[in-house]
Amino acid sequence: MQHALGCVGSALGGGGRVSQRNTAARDRDRAAIRRTKPPCGICEGEIDYSLPYLDPMSFVVDHVIPLAKGGVDELANKQAAHRSCNQTKAAKLPEDFAPRVFVTSRSW
Ligand SMILES: [Zn+2]
Repeated sequence: MQHALGCVGSALGGGGRVSQRNTAARDRDRAAIRRTKPPCGICEGEIDYSLPYLDPMSFVVDHVIPLAKGGVDELANKQAAHRSCNQTKAAKLPEDFAPRVFVTSRSW
């Protein structure tokens, strides 16, 4: 039985944070879509890209094939959409496990 090196391994712990990479890719794709200012992919109406983020008619990135349906999180599967259109589309998805996130209150 040898326990002499017992503590050395702990410095290697922690693991990688894979999710960080995904966020950077999303920011990049979002910027790429925004640059060409395409119309809404759902209602085909124009999008006012100067609207504030929380405006119902503001620009959001929509997944053509929702991630919940096996769509990929890549630019080829993304389009511009109005925030309200995107939410309407999401509500129509007949998904058993629809990843709905209800943000009804914010303490900040
Ligand atoms: Zn729209």
